Amino acid sequence: MRSNGSIERFTVEEIGERDGWVCGLCQGPVDLAHQHPDPRSPSIDHIRTIAAGGTDTRDNVRLTHWGCNHERNDSTPLGTVEEAESQRAVLLRIPALRAYAEGLTAEDMIRRSQAFHSPERYRAKLARRVERYERERR
Ligand SMILES: [Zn+2]
Repeated sequence: MRSNGSIERFTVEEIGERDGWVCGLCQGPVDLAHQHPDPRSPSIDHIRTIAAGGTDTRDNVRLTHWGCNHERNDSTPLGTVEEAESQRAVLLRIPALRAYAEGLTAEDMIRRSQAFHSPERYRAKLARRVERYERERR
């Protein structure tokens, strides 16, 4: 699983302290008092996913809400034209997505990705998850 074989041991408490108990996705406060499966419970997110070659090391992880982490759903935000073009190359190989991928510019892809990964969107999604969670618990 690990691309370079490096293994570091760290805990959610350690990463939480380092990150000031702020969620790396929605920028909201994270409280250890919330426990899984509460969407507000703390979790560790891999910034570059393991699947994409990221490592399970301190420099590649951040504190997030479990719900925000789940929302991110293994998609790495696109920051550069190069990243967008490499994602487009993947889409072009999928027949059903080919026409869609051909119609997008790298700039469109980056703009959509950044809108998808905005703190505002994560906050709204988390609020909905919390609402559902509270309703189901009653
Ligand atoms: Zn969050």
